[in-house]
Amino acid sequence: MTEKDYSGATTSKIGKNAKSSTSKSSGETLTAKQKTQKQAAQSENANINIEAYRKAGEIGKKTKEFAKNLIKKDMLLSEIAEKIEGEIKKLGGEIAFPVNLSIDDVAAHYTPTLRDEKKASGLLKADIGIHVDGCICDLAFSVDLTPEKKHHKLIEASEKALNSALEIVKKNKDNTTVSQIGEQIEKQIKNTGFTPIVNLSGHSLDEYNIHAGLTIPNINNSSTKILESGAFAIEPFATLSTATGLIYEGAGSNIYHITTNTIQVRDNFAREVLSWIIENKKTLPFSQRELEKEFGARVLIAVSNLKRAGAIEEYPQLIEKSHSPVSQTETSLIILENGSVEILG
Ligand code: MN
Ligand code: MN
Repeated sequence: MTEKDYSGATTSKIGKNAKSSTSKSSGETLTAKQKTQKQAAQSENANINIEAYRKAGEIGKKTKEFAKNLIKKDMLLSEIAEKIEGEIKKLGGEIAFPVNLSIDDVAAHYTPTLRDEKKASGLLKADIGIHVDGCICDLAFSVDLTPEKKHHKLIEASEKALNSALEIVKKNKDNTTVSQIGEQIEKQIKNTGFTPIVNLSGHSLDEYNIHAGLTIPNINNSSTKILESGAFAIEPFATLSTATGLIYEGAGSNIYHITTNTIQVRDNFAREVLSWIIENKKTLPFSQRELEKEFGARVLIAVSNLKRAGAIEEYPQLIEKSHSPVSQTETSLIILENGSVEILG
């Protein structure tokens, strides 16, 4: 998933000195072997569970290949999303967020419902999230499903932009500023004749937290904030040079997140659904599809009750203002305390 226009407003908790270790993460019971592995990894890198990130990255790579081979024009989006999420689980990962399948001017944040009639077409972005013990690999790619392949250059622009961004991180390691990354992305996209999306950004990742505070822009925003050790997602979005390059929030995405677990909900069934969400998704985004598979169609009423009570919130679709097609390429990476950089997914 992506971050809209937060402009780094909540960036106080970034980097190695600000993070509060992994103890808050899950409350799950670990085996003795897992504990030793986790502690060994943490003694070198106090704040990140390297092995879990690596595993999420491996599953990410395989899922991406699976998804690239799977997606064909006119396939039902619901079939694509279900199969990709199934593959993540088959490979031993968990779903960090519902598979986003966004078409043309919808830049991000759409997942189909179970009975969704939408089919794959145009410029399709698949944005996929895998987690292992809360450690997230967030990745995305774009596919051109037009008969004349008219979007291939636009897709190449975001791919090249991501590569340039990764080059600068590999070179500057844990001394890269977010604006250096934005500068590379902006330059690369403009050099290929396109425009970056200004108000969508990459972000830091934390355990069970997709948007952990640090914003990584797709333009040079002059920020001197640095990527210290930790996990990050970089995700250039490109659109036509004639476009506004801005995103607005459209209709609902069928993707939800919990706002608080302290809200009193009167309806027993809605309470049961809320407990399931807290137990199984923690603070991660989830879809109407997942709930419906678990509870059946009657869950839809509980969802609207929970929405009305303010216990859950639906993400809006993120749409390009001038309705121009948008491409996206994303990968996640970890920066270790010794400054070495590992690309996940
Ligand atoms: Mn993403
Ligand atoms: Mn992301």
